[in-house]
Amino acid sequence: MAIESNPLIKHQDKLTYLLIIASIVITVVAIAWTIFFISIRDWLSVGVESILIALGCIGYNSAKRNNTKVIAHILFPLLFIVMCIVCIFFDVPNTAVPRSNHHYFLPMVLYAYVLYQDEHPYLKIAAPALISLAFLMFASTHTGINLSGMTNDHRLVGVWITNSVALMMLFLVALIMQSDFKVRHTLELELSKALLKNEIELYFQPQVDERGRTLGAEALARWQHPTFGTIEPDVFIPLAEKSELILHLGKYVLASACHQLTLWAQNEATAQLTLSVNISVKQFQSTEFVPHIITLLNEAKVNAHKLQLEITESIFAHDLETIQVKMTQLKSYGIKFSLDDFGTGYSSLAYVKKLPLDELKIDKSFIKEVLTSVNDASITKMIISLAHELHIAIIAEGVETPEQQQFLINNGCLNFQGYLYSRPLPIAEFNAFALVNNQ
Ligand code: C2E
Ligand code: CA
Ligand code: CA
Repeated sequence: MAIESNPLIKHQDKLTYLLIIASIVITVVAIAWTIFFISIRDWLSVGVESILIALGCIGYNSAKRNNTKVIAHILFPLLFIVMCIVCIFFDVPNTAVPRSNHHYFLPMVLYAYVLYQDEHPYLKIAAPALISLAFLMFASTHTGINLSGMTNDHRLVGVWITNSVALMMLFLVALIMQSDFKVRHTLELELSKALLKNEIELYFQPQVDERGRTLGAEALARWQHPTFGTIEPDVFIPLAEKSELILHLGKYVLASACHQLTLWAQNEATAQLTLSVNISVKQFQSTEFVPHIITLLNEAKVNAHKLQLEITESIFAHDLETIQVKMTQLKSYGIKFSLDDFGTGYSSLAYVKKLPLDELKIDKSFIKEVLTSVNDASITKMIISLAHELHIAIIAEGVETPEQQQFLINNGCLNFQGYLYSRPLPIAEFNAFALVNNQ
C-alpha cells in the first residue's frame, strides 16, 4: 500500500522503510566503491568501504527487526565518525577536484531529526546540530591529509556519483518526512473529530485471581473509525500524546470509566469490580488533572476505591515532589495507583519506595519469555518479591498460557490479565464474562 494513501501506517513503520532504504544504499554504494578500489589496489580505501558495507548490513538487519535503538545509538554515530574520517583522509579537496562526501551529512541531518525525535530533548537537538556543524566545516575548509590512491580524473567522476546519491537520499528523506507530517496532521484532525463524534470506545480486559474470578478490568481505548474500522491505541495514543489531544482523550476516558463504575455499582453482581485506567504523563502533569478527577468523582457519585490509575515509569523523569503531592491528594479520596509496564523504563527502586503505590504491574514483555529466558524469570521474581516487601499488590499482564500462570502462582503473583482469560471486550461482553466467572 502506498505510504501516503494509508494513514494508519505508523511513524515507526516509515522510519523502518527509511532505514532499510538507507542501509541498502550504503551497502550497494560501498560494494561498488570496494570493487573499484580493489581494481586500483587502494587497500586503505577498501578497508574503509568494508566498514561501510558492515554498517549497511547490520543496519539493514536491525531495521528489519525494528531495532531502531541499535541504529540510533550505535550504527548512526559510527556512520557519522566513518564519514568524518572519509572527509578528512580520503576526500581532501584540491584545485582540480572539490570535496563531495560531506554532502551525505545533509540527508544525515534529516535522518538524525527523525531518528532522535522521541529521544531526550538534548539528543534531539544535539545530533542534527553536530552533523550540521561537520557539514559546515567540511564545506567551508580544505582541511585534511590525503591518503586516497585515486587520481583526479577518477575523483571527478566520484564527485558526480557521491553528489547524486546524497541528493537522492536528501530527496527521499524529505519526501517521507513530508508524508509523515501529512499523515499526522490528518490523523490529528480525525482524532479531534472522533472525540466529538463519540468514535472512541472503551474495551474492558478482565483482571482475574488464581481461582479465575474476575476482580475488575483495565479500560483500553479503541477508535471505531467509519472508514478505517477499529484503530488500535498503539496507533493513535502516541499521536495524541504529541499534542494537547491526549488531555481531551484522557478526560473522555476518565469520564467514561467513572460512568461505568456508577453502572456497575447499581448491580450486586458487578458492584465489587475495580476499573484501571491508563494515564499519560502529559495528562498527569496537567494542572487540571486532580481537580478534574475530583469533579468527576463527585458528579458520578463513584466509589473512588474502585478506580485505579495506571501510571508508567516515564512519569519519574519529572519532578518527584509534584508527583507525590498529586498522588497523595487523589489517594485521600480513595483512588488507587498502579505502576504499569514495571521494569521497562526508568526503574529506580528509590522512586518506587517513595511513591504511594498500591500495585505493581509486571510488563507483558517479561511474561512472554518468563519460561524461556532466565533473565526475564529472575526479573519477574524480583518484581514479585519487591511488591511483597513493600506490601503492595502485584499483577501480571500478558499472561497467555497456563504454564506462565503456574510460574507466577509458584512465585507468589496471584492476579493476572491476559489472553489466557480474555482479550479486551466491549462492555456487554465483559459484563457477561464477569457474571459467568463470578457465579
Ligand atoms: P498497556 O497499558 O500496556 O495495555 C495492555 C496492552 O496489552 C493492551 O493493548 C492489551 O490488549 C494487550 N494485552 C493484553 N493481554 C495480552 C496478552 O496476553 N498478550 C499480548 N501480546 N498482549 C496483551 P492495547 O489495548 O492495544 O493497548 C496498547 C497501549 O495503549 C496500552 O498498553 C496503553 O499504554 C495505551 N492505551 C490504551 N488505552 C489507553 C487510554 O485510554 N489512555 C492512555 N493514556 N493510554 C491507553
Ligand atoms: Ca495499562
Ligand atoms: Ca502495560
